[in-house]
Amino acid sequence: MKYDYLIVGAGLFGAVFAREAANAGKTCLVVEKRAHIGGNIYTENVGGVTVHKFGAHIFHTSDKRVWDYVNKYAEFTSFINSPLANYKGRLYHLPFNMNTFYELWGVTTPAEAKKKIDEQKIPCGNPQNVKEQAMSLVGEDIYKTLVEGYTEKQWGKSADKLPADIIKRLPLRFTFDNNYFNDKYQGIPEGGYTRLIENLLKGVEVRLNTDFIADRENLGKLADKILYTGAIDEFFGFAEGNLEYRSLRFETERLDTPDFQGNAVVNYTEREVPYTRIIEHKHFERGNNSPFTVITREYPDDWKPGKERFYPVNDGANGARYEKYRERAKAQKNVIFGGRLGLYKYYDMDDVVAEALAFADKYI
Ligand code: FAD
Repeated sequence: MKYDYLIVGAGLFGAVFAREAANAGKTCLVVEKRAHIGGNIYTENVGGVTVHKFGAHIFHTSDKRVWDYVNKYAEFTSFINSPLANYKGRLYHLPFNMNTFYELWGVTTPAEAKKKIDEQKIPCGNPQNVKEQAMSLVGEDIYKTLVEGYTEKQWGKSADKLPADIIKRLPLRFTFDNNYFNDKYQGIPEGGYTRLIENLLKGVEVRLNTDFIADRENLGKLADKILYTGAIDEFFGFAEGNLEYRSLRFETERLDTPDFQGNAVVNYTEREVPYTRIIEHKHFERGNNSPFTVITREYPDDWKPGKERFYPVNDGANGARYEKYRERAKAQKNVIFGGRLGLYKYYDMDDVVAEALAFADKYI
């Protein structure tokens, strides 16, 4: 059978595009090289606890079209992300807000907090690195306690060697508000993201454990058009060299205790602790009374070919390399490149949905 679309990748981008194509009466085949759908938002049910297999995922958006769209395919809980930071055994609220300032300095009013921060800031007209940038934005105490070690672990370099533009802003909130995001809508699909993807892919043929690159000759013949959400450099046989990424490593444990840390996300901001955060999955769901719990420690990892790609490295060299791939992509008349790997870009999930819908409007 010949399909209208071959969709490479059953992540969020591929699934939204497939749904729209199917709704428009087009035939689609989705091929996915992993053993499951969902890409990096895949969740797994472990004895009644929904486990986020590739890191904590909270859906947040201010785009009503996107929010209404995802709510058609899953029921969302009212989860609000309120992470904590653990620095040398003491806990601080995030994002930086009046609770954090109280915990750091005992200040109780916005005016006192602003005065304290102004005293600590070291102005810098042209910051050369993350340290100078952060010290000029928030001053020493916040930088040392909550920024320095965490950023160094994430990027695997010391802060005075990291380019200043890694940190563009460090928002300070002068209210007692621990909601990490500013978006109007926020939540997590009931039963996990896999259910959302299953619903998007209802009625669409999906072949798991099928690597497009390994069988592109045959698979390519199956459809008139290809939506490719895999890595763009891999599509072109790495002809312009590898696009670099930061990687992550996850260690997941089931513990025989009903509650490990009392919160979904706790960041570890000191350099000496090797992981950046611990996720306790059951706290993404309200009222999960299971007698055990599941936690995941997230370790930043250097990337090398063969490892899972997580965060694109948006520096000059990789940007220039991506531009070369983009030029090659333009010459591929029947292939559309999409998603975080196809466009070599960090996208939040709402951006992915918005972009996949825009692609569907344009191409279907
Ligand atoms: P992917 O999910 O990567 O899907 C691409 C799919 O293509 C994969 O399943 C892959 O296996 C498949 N594929 C690749 N190559 C081939 C091939 N050759 N053949 C067949 N299949 C192939 N966003 C938020 O909005 N909120 C959050 O809280 C949040 N937390 C995050 C936490 C972490 C640690 C990370 C890394 C990201 C987070 N994100 C978050 C971003 C979110 O993960 C992405 O927006 C989303 O997963 C991107 O979807 P995608 O379909 O573009 O890519």
